Amino acid sequence: MDKLTPSARSRNMAAIRSKGMKPEMAVRRLVHRMGFRFRLHGHGLVGKPDLVFPSRRAVVFVHGCFWHQHSSRNCKIVRVPKSNLRYWRAKLARNVERDQLNRAALRSLGWRVLVIWECSIENDRGWAKRLLKFLDLQQAFHPS
Ligand SMILES: [Zn+2]
Repeated sequence: MDKLTPSARSRNMAAIRSKGMKPEMAVRRLVHRMGFRFRLHGHGLVGKPDLVFPSRRAVVFVHGCFWHQHSSRNCKIVRVPKSNLRYWRAKLARNVERDQLNRAALRSLGWRVLVIWECSIENDRGWAKRLLKFLDLQQAFHPS
């Protein structure tokens, strides 16, 4: 049984959400420092990617491992809640499905899509290298 009151539960969820904001800030800070121009939360785009690089036709999602159910075996953040299991399973499965559809839709419109996972920002410096490589790729095609 779920022992949390609804307000305590929403406080918990809000805490998880705001925790999820930090990785996005880390990514923004890096690309800003590198001088890339980008827009935030592309509202005209399916899935509202966290960062949009219009001239590079590239979008970046910074995914919280819990909300987007990171499937890496190395992920230490992803989990399934112990209470309300059926509710969470369905909700999280919908998130994963929506993410897949969003990525496919963006790619079919010619966008390149990179997903950066929350845990990789905390545990692995490689994400920054991957991101810069991803962004530079298109520059080669648009030398201006
Ligand atoms: Zn993860």
